[in-house]
Amino acid sequence: MELEKFADDIGPEKIIEIYSPKVGLNAVVVLDNLKRGPAKGGIRMTPTVNVEEVFRLARTMTFKTAFFELPFGGGKSGIIFDPKKYPIGKKQEMMMEFGRQLRYIAPKMYIAAPDVNTGEEEMRWFVQGNGSLRSCTGKPKELGGLPHELGSTGFGVAHAALVAVNHLGMDANKTTVAIEGFGNVGSFAAKFLSQFGMKIVAVSDSRGCIYNKEGLNPEELLKVKQVTGSVVNHKTGEVLPNRQIFELPADVLIPAALPDVINRDNVDKVKAKVVVEGANIPMVPETEDILHKRGVLVVPDFVANGGGVISSYDEYRKNGEDSMFRLVERKIKKNTKLVLTRAGKENCKPRDMAMKIAMERLE
Ligand code: NAD
Repeated sequence: MELEKFADDIGPEKIIEIYSPKVGLNAVVVLDNLKRGPAKGGIRMTPTVNVEEVFRLARTMTFKTAFFELPFGGGKSGIIFDPKKYPIGKKQEMMMEFGRQLRYIAPKMYIAAPDVNTGEEEMRWFVQGNGSLRSCTGKPKELGGLPHELGSTGFGVAHAALVAVNHLGMDANKTTVAIEGFGNVGSFAAKFLSQFGMKIVAVSDSRGCIYNKEGLNPEELLKVKQVTGSVVNHKTGEVLPNRQIFELPADVLIPAALPDVINRDNVDKVKAKVVVEGANIPMVPETEDILHKRGVLVVPDFVANGGGVISSYDEYRKNGEDSMFRLVERKIKKNTKLVLTRAGKENCKPRDMAMKIAMERLE
């Protein structure tokens, strides 16, 4: 494989492929940049993950950790495996073996975390194999962890949205919100935004979208989702196809599920004044350009969804939940304000300004 094609002045520092035939482990780790500290990044477990995907995700982590001034570099790993096809014991065996195989780099050069198909339990197994509690973050509470399940990312997304709303001089108490996806990021974003006084008028999940211009109750939606599997079973609004969420009349739109959901086909139908990217790459930069030219304020993904990695840093410092929420709030507010103010002054897109700031901090 032509690994050289990934190389530039930033990284990657190392690409490590791991085969452990005994348990059938096939994985890749990319340590993109270690200038600021050990590479930080989650473990993705899917049947399709490959070096290129892992490299791209590692590069995003390099920018994200630098942008938030954390003492970490950027990294990521991928285990090529479909956990849904096997009993849970096989996943446990994979995670333990992966932790063991990474003893020589984790936690010295790499600190893992949850990502697609890995959560706090998987982090427990990784630590069991690795032997060091500092080899990953997002661990269960009883291991001194701050699991992603506490909602740090959604909390940060809500704060980024509040900063953007204030930046435009809008009144939070008169602001309406639509959220695509009601998983970890979307459900916590909804909870905190409603605490800030905003009205959640629409949410969606894989089965559809529910809309009520008078407002929906996020806590009730969550209960219904947990019991029945979908927010659409909450009978308090109109049920629509899930893709319609992007076109509904709401002041703030928060994509918090899939990539590339706002695209050439629907960008002209977006009615929101603010889009806060809770998900990673919910649209390509060219689509952001179109919205920017129309005067829509777009808070880019690596700014808005940085709460997870900020929480990881506080876990690494052995701090608890209260400290973590304070740190996420402080860093997200300060840096979102900085990006929006500087982008306004220099008349550029928030993403371009955030990249400029990340590069300054990386250097
Ligand atoms: P999750 O698996 O907890 O939730 C995903 C949600 O998306 C689910 O509610 C699912 O029903 C919904 N969904 C699936 N298909 C959909 C569709 N067609 N339309 C509407 N909703 C649909 O995932 P998550 O952890 O909340 O992550 C969401 C996004 O945020 C991803 O892009 C992820 O990379 C990004 N992100 C997550 C974190 C984190 O800490 N969890 C941190 C940074 C970025």
